[in-house]
Amino acid sequence: MLLQSDDWGRVGVRDKEGYELLRAEGVRLGEHPYDFYTLETAEDVTAIHELLKRHRDSTGRSACMGMNFVMANLDFKKISKSGFRDISLMPLTDGLPGNWKREGLFEAYRSGIEDGVFSPSLHGLTHFCQLAIEHALGKSNPQSHLLRTLWRAETPYIYWRMPWVGYEYNNPEKPRQGFLSAELQAKGIKEAAGIFKKFFSRAATSACAPGYRANSDTHKAWAGQGIRVVQNGSGSPLPPHMDAFEMLHLHRTIDIEPSQKDLPVEKYIQLAEGCFARGVPAIISVHAINFHSSLKDFRSATLYSLDEFLTALERKFPNLLYVHDMDAYDIVSRGKFRSVGGTVSVGVRSVDMSVRS
Ligand SMILES: [Zn+2]
Repeated sequence: MLLQSDDWGRVGVRDKEGYELLRAEGVRLGEHPYDFYTLETAEDVTAIHELLKRHRDSTGRSACMGMNFVMANLDFKKISKSGFRDISLMPLTDGLPGNWKREGLFEAYRSGIEDGVFSPSLHGLTHFCQLAIEHALGKSNPQSHLLRTLWRAETPYIYWRMPWVGYEYNNPEKPRQGFLSAELQAKGIKEAAGIFKKFFSRAATSACAPGYRANSDTHKAWAGQGIRVVQNGSGSPLPPHMDAFEMLHLHRTIDIEPSQKDLPVEKYIQLAEGCFARGVPAIISVHAINFHSSLKDFRSATLYSLDEFLTALERKFPNLLYVHDMDAYDIVSRGKFRSVGGTVSVGVRSVDMSVRS
């Protein structure tokens, strides 16, 4: 079983103060869960750490969550000085932009990583498409007006209100609609991988494209930066498979997203059971918003559901394994991986997908 979680390190609405500023500017916040998307606090991260640490698999290992990080935020101070005409980025290694504050957050990430309950991976340099935003900044229309209003309140964007910002490697708007060129993608991925290495003192080995929008140019650029595992969304739950770059593709199979939709725990267990019956890992998607608490407490309900889910899994499956992406890679490529007590062998069977159907 794997847990994969996106959007760590990416700022949204700047807590109560930013929320009030935006409301005063006429942005009618409160209509959608992502209007309450802020940024995790050290307490949020520590609470997940403690929960995962309490849970053990059949080898005695703690549960582990793969966290996909966005490596830079908008540098709102610089952008404001430029008269809101250009994009400037602030890498996570330089801290948080403008008036954003999160005491102890980066230490909380690192403490979980040291404890083996968090496994950091690469989401991107930004979550939005820079081309789409640059294009909007050159105009004077309702889109660019909303963007500047948000930026004055130190919020980069709220996706559901403005899907035209797209995703890092995919521009939804004309001109230059579609995936970014191979060169542009490679440039962004190289920069993000560099910040990742500096921030975590280790290279990224697993990646997940923002919005799951990746093409073969994205895959090639990832492979060039040493990525071994590609995370895919739950749209087409294929079994794990190797691609032309010898990267392992993992497809999420279960969405546990209590901030959007809450299902009874039995339903999640049924889905996991279905995965194991098919001989594939249960790969759970749970986005960072579900652990946020600063504007709205999404965290309590998520921790409650996750606790129930893990407890039920441990009871029901006595040979359960909690693994992260690189363990899955080792299992697929070598039939074994390293757990707390030593090497664990896992029987792996490969199916020729071309003849299966
Ligand atoms: Zn994301």
